[in-house]
Amino acid sequence: MKFSELDLKPEILTALTNMGYQDLTPIQEKTFSPIISGRDLLARAETGSGKTAACGIPLAQMIDPSLNAIQVLILVPTRELALQYVEEIHRIGKLAGVVPFAVFGGFSMEIQKAKLRDRVHLLVATPGRLIDFLYNTTAIDLSSVRTLVLDEADEMLKMGFIEDIDFIMSSLIHEHQTLFFAATMPKEIDRLISAYLKEPVRVELNKEQLSPQSLVHHFQYTERRDRLNALIQYLKKEKISQALIFCNSRHHGEKLKKELERIFKSIGYIHGGLEQPKRTSIFERFRQKKIDLMVATDLAGRGLDFSHVSHVINYDYPFGQESYTHRTGRTGRMGRSGIAMTFVTDEELGVLKSMLKANRIDPVWHGNIPNLQAVHKQYGRRDGKKHFKRRSQPVQRAKSPQFTGMVPTPLS
Ligand code: ADP
Ligand code: MG
Repeated sequence: MKFSELDLKPEILTALTNMGYQDLTPIQEKTFSPIISGRDLLARAETGSGKTAACGIPLAQMIDPSLNAIQVLILVPTRELALQYVEEIHRIGKLAGVVPFAVFGGFSMEIQKAKLRDRVHLLVATPGRLIDFLYNTTAIDLSSVRTLVLDEADEMLKMGFIEDIDFIMSSLIHEHQTLFFAATMPKEIDRLISAYLKEPVRVELNKEQLSPQSLVHHFQYTERRDRLNALIQYLKKEKISQALIFCNSRHHGEKLKKELERIFKSIGYIHGGLEQPKRTSIFERFRQKKIDLMVATDLAGRGLDFSHVSHVINYDYPFGQESYTHRTGRTGRMGRSGIAMTFVTDEELGVLKSMLKANRIDPVWHGNIPNLQAVHKQYGRRDGKKHFKRRSQPVQRAKSPQFTGMVPTPLS
């Protein structure tokens, strides 16, 4: 099914077209009408199946941009996911006037507060930071929330957010729609389901119906000065129909394109600085397979659907976990098989391990395998955070006056 067949606001449809989204993924097809019709929903589908847009598109459609109030609240387990979510909704909804915003820990509350004073229609939040806001400030008013979403509900349970979720759920006093998205359905989720979902529509996709699960993640560890050579060798021996090769900056992209041109024919280069007509014509030549290898910067690669790309190559290691997903999501789409190849140098080893874990990647190594255990100790994480700190005890918080007298939603 195509997005153009749905009764979407023209601005949303245009945004989707710009993002390169034409067909709904299976999870999007199954969840669109229950969400639009206001039903509660329980949806299970694996990572990479398009759950963000499954939720984001109908919600962007349902939001009334003229009402300056938080109408949708989305809870996610990590700050990376919060950012990814908000970015996707921004792309989907900005032409339609939908303003999303994310609050998460590890970032100044004051700055977040200032933004919250402006217009926010859709709030994405990690549970801990949201509760901080609710207890200690009046910056967030949830009284107009009509839809509550739990993304990665299974992950949130695993991370021990259950009391936080209970608290947030019970602080939404009005009737609202509740949507749960998860990749797995652990036993513990049953209590949340029976407590908070009313006659939910259940959508479960089995493996065959899932979208880009056929993506294999390859990695090669190399010294920085050997990296170009490693890439060239890889391109020569690998059976590639078409590849996107990512660089982190325009400057790098330019240099790499020149190097590759000495050896290979028909190299394309796409970056954020290109004028629209030029971009369109390069993309067109790539689509028509007149170009086999395309060097790209992140900005240029985002959201574009090159369904026939066989390889995504991270020549420069991507900044941030969501960037890895975005880049590699350009291949292995919609059931086709794809290969992601990432070159890793010493500098990136510190962040690699948490990226692999967060994206649940089972790496296939070419050549030497770095000792991540040792490296992790030596380098630590760049941002100085521990990974997925689990709460052993629920945090006791004093009730603030703001919440006394509120009637929690009935539990059944
Ligand atoms: P999930 O939350 O299920 O793990 P995401 O929402 O992160 O999956 O989506 C995975 C990738 O698929 C993203 O790169 C996203 O841009 C892309 N995507 C989602 N829906 C579509 C669509 N209808 N057409 C093309 N690409 C899509
Ligand atoms: Mg997701």
